[in-house]
Amino acid sequence: MTTGGKVRTQALDAPAGAPVHALFGLSNEELSGALGEFGLLPYRIRQLETALYRNRISDLEAITPWPKDLRQKVASAGFRAGLPEIVQTFRSVDGTERYLIAGHDGQTVETVWMPEGDGGEDEDSDSPAPPEAAGGSAKKAWSRATICVSSQIGCAVNCQFCLTARLGIVRNLTAGEIAGQVAAVLKRQSAEPGRDRINLVFMGMGEPFLNYDAFMDAVRLLAGPMEIPESRMTVSTSGIVPGILRFAQEPVRPRLAISLNAPNDAVREGIMPITRKWPMAEVLDAVGQVRLRQRERVTFEYVLLAGVNDAPEHADELVRLVRRAQFPAKVNLIAWNPGPDVPFAMPAPEAVAAFQQRLREEGVAAFVRRPRGRDIYAACGQLKKTVALEPREGVQQWSK
Ligand code: SF4
Repeated sequence: MTTGGKVRTQALDAPAGAPVHALFGLSNEELSGALGEFGLLPYRIRQLETALYRNRISDLEAITPWPKDLRQKVASAGFRAGLPEIVQTFRSVDGTERYLIAGHDGQTVETVWMPEGDGGEDEDSDSPAPPEAAGGSAKKAWSRATICVSSQIGCAVNCQFCLTARLGIVRNLTAGEIAGQVAAVLKRQSAEPGRDRINLVFMGMGEPFLNYDAFMDAVRLLAGPMEIPESRMTVSTSGIVPGILRFAQEPVRPRLAISLNAPNDAVREGIMPITRKWPMAEVLDAVGQVRLRQRERVTFEYVLLAGVNDAPEHADELVRLVRRAQFPAKVNLIAWNPGPDVPFAMPAPEAVAAFQQRLREEGVAAFVRRPRGRDIYAACGQLKKTVALEPREGVQQWSK
C-alpha cells in the first residue's frame, strides 16, 4: 500500500544556479574543513553535529544554538542540512514499512523498517533492554525494531535469487546517504537510540564491501554522533575477501554476516557467481581473521531455495562446514521470497523446519528469519525499485 506523497526528484532545494553542499554525512573534521571560511570554534561544530545527527534537522534554521546571522551566512554560501528525505512509503499488513529515500541527485534508495525485528537474531536475549525502554516505548506499537539499510543503488554481485541484482550497479551511496537512511527512518518513527532498542542490518540493496570506504564512514557516524552501538549493527557480505580482510582491522565495526546460501562451492557457484572469484574456503579464512568480541558469533545467512540447497544432505554438509570454521558461528535460515521472473521455488514450511531441526540436532545454532513485508516487496532479496523492472542497459554485473 502506498502511503507516501509524490516522489520528488531533488532532495535539496537550492537557489537557482547556486551550488549545494550537504552537511549531513560529514565527520567533525570534515565539517570544520567545509565551513572553514566561517572560522567556527570547535563548540560551534559540536552544536552543528548535535543538530544534524541527534536532532536530525532538515533545515539549518533549526540550529537554534547558532546565532541567526551565522545560520543565514552558512545557508547563503550554499550549505544545507542535507538529511535524506523519505519520498514514498509502502506499508505491509505486518507493520513493516518500505521507503524510497531520495539521495542528493534525486536517485532513490530502499530502506526497510521492521518493528519487532525478523526473528533471525538471538542477540537481544543476551542483553537487557535499556532501562528507559519500557517508559520510552510504552505508547509505541513496537518494543524494538530493525532497520534494513542499503549501501548501493542496485548491485553488481548478481546473486541469481535476488531481485536487486536485476538492476545491476547504478551507483555507490555516500556515507551521508547510508547513515541518512537511518536518520530519516528514526525521525519518521520518533525513535531514539538509547531509549529505544534499534538494530541496524546492512542487508538492503547493494554489497557494502564493494562500497567499503563510504560504508565504514557511515558506520563511524552511526556509532559516533548518532549513538547507535556497533554491537547493534550487522553487515552482510556476499564474500568480498579483500573487504573482509580490511574489516578485520577495524577498531569499530558491526557484527559480521556472510551470505552463504550453500554448503559447498558447486551449489554456491550456481546461485552466486562471485564464488568463482572467491571460493568459500578463502572467504572463511578471511572471516577467521576478524577478532570477535566476547560472545560474538559470525552469522551465516542461508536462503533456502526449494530443490537447490534445501535437501537433508545440504544440512549435513552445512553442519560440517560450521564445525570446521575457525570461529563461533550461527545460521540464519530464510525461506526464499518469491519475485517476478526469478526461476526458483519457495521451500515448504515443513522443509524449512526440517532443515533447521537437522542443524540443531547436530548442535548448530540455527534460527529461522520471519519473512517481513512480503506483500510490499520488502523481504530479503526483494529490495528493488519497483519502477525500472528491466536491467538498465550498460550496467555492470558480476559475471565471473
Ligand atoms: S543478495 Fe545482496 S549481494 Fe547478492 S545481488 Fe542481491 S543485493 Fe547484491
